[in-house]
Amino acid sequence: MENLYLELFNRQKNNQFKVGNTTYKERLKKLKSLRYAVEVTYKQKIREALYNDFKKPELEVDLTEIYPVVSEIKYVSANLKSWMKRQKVETPMALLGSSSWVTYEPKGVCLIISPWNFPFNLTFGPLVSAIAAGNTVILKPSEMTPNSSKVMAEIVKAIFTEDEVALVEGAVETSKALLQLPFNHIFFTGSPAVGKIVMKAAATHLSSVTLELGGKSPTIVDKTANINQAARKIAWGKFLNNGQICVSPDYILIDETVKSDFISAFKKHLNEFYTEEIEQSSDYSRVVNDKHFDRLVNHIENARQCNASIEIGGVSNKTENFIEPTVISNLPEEASLLQEEIFGPILPIKTYGNLEAAIAYINSKEKPLALYIYSKSKSHINYVIKNTRAGTTAINNNVLQYSNHHLPFGGSNNSGIGKSHGFYGFEAFSNRRAVLKQHTKGATEFLFPPYTKLKQKLVD
Ligand code: NAD
Repeated sequence: MENLYLELFNRQKNNQFKVGNTTYKERLKKLKSLRYAVEVTYKQKIREALYNDFKKPELEVDLTEIYPVVSEIKYVSANLKSWMKRQKVETPMALLGSSSWVTYEPKGVCLIISPWNFPFNLTFGPLVSAIAAGNTVILKPSEMTPNSSKVMAEIVKAIFTEDEVALVEGAVETSKALLQLPFNHIFFTGSPAVGKIVMKAAATHLSSVTLELGGKSPTIVDKTANINQAARKIAWGKFLNNGQICVSPDYILIDETVKSDFISAFKKHLNEFYTEEIEQSSDYSRVVNDKHFDRLVNHIENARQCNASIEIGGVSNKTENFIEPTVISNLPEEASLLQEEIFGPILPIKTYGNLEAAIAYINSKEKPLALYIYSKSKSHINYVIKNTRAGTTAINNNVLQYSNHHLPFGGSNNSGIGKSHGFYGFEAFSNRRAVLKQHTKGATEFLFPPYTKLKQKLVD
């Protein structure tokens, strides 16, 4: 049976040189239209879609969905001209009479598959990089946030022709059908399990991939840390988007001597953020759907069965997909909360006796997408960074490293392959083409046969 999306793919393939040969001004014009759509024309629709998808508060939509796309466009617009210029490199003496440079050429026809947790940010963010690099793009957002996907489809239709950028709505089967096509690049954001499926499919055509994946991001709080500030920042970073963030602090590793101070401070800040009537707070979003709600409630149930201590929260309401901000300690290692990425409003706390033990624990797991450390000690901070591996790190804060366009964003091995954002995003969607130009006619004459003794002497 013919692939449903082959015709669309071929139209983009036939159009790729036209799109690829656009000037930086033409690319900026497209980005400007996207910016205007997100920032002005569709702003209210975007807010409503996300409220309907998982009750995401308006301010959080502005800060974590609209702002990142707009600021990425601003940053790219300010720099694209220089990124598109050929980069001159040195040429060795042996190639005398030649000059060399690198040009960033578009990869061609690209596929962007995105998750549901920041539907706009994680679909349009990579799209900005792909357009900047001169590609044609097929977008496949998540089926779990259908209201957001619908608005994105409207935006894409209003701005682009289908042979340039198209959005395909659908679930796993749609994704699988798209993955059969010989894309030049696949940019996937989602779970490590699906990342492996994507990479296998990409191998069939040797499509290059960027895999922005997830996993468990550890957060160390040592005994020198400002405990009150650490608790406040983690309470924000953990419950933002209801814990459904790839760089959310997944679990805390805390020096056992400061654990109880940390939990008291954590409670205080949660009350300040969301009041004691948290279910009524319009600043607290919900778990995205029933399937994820059940998965998360099972984690809490499993913790109870393991006789762990529910320090904060633990209450849920199925009709609303609401789970209280929940903090759990004294979990045995086999507890599901310590084995799987949580991706929801539950925070396990694990104590350690010394920093070496905390590091050994982290290194016994897959490399995380983010590793956080709260400490006033320079030597502790350096020790942690030198003796662990992670895609990103924030010191004395969390999540914010994502928002600096000057930093590459991405994981390492199980948490991802390749980087995005700013120049790194442009690079992900480009092929670094190496060009050598010979200026002087006879300069390489000595390479050609017959290989005389004189030529041999030149090489020796
Ligand atoms: P997911 O992997 O289940 O789905 C992501 C996308 O893949 C969706 O569009 C989905 O339709 C598609 N998909 C799902 N199963 C598929 C299959 N078998 N074959 C082909 N396509 C398939 O991820 P999710 O639940 O949407 O998002 C949560 C995960 O994403 C977490 O692991 C999180 O850490 C990670 N994530 C990573 C980043 C990052 O930037 N590194 C950002 C957000 C989320």
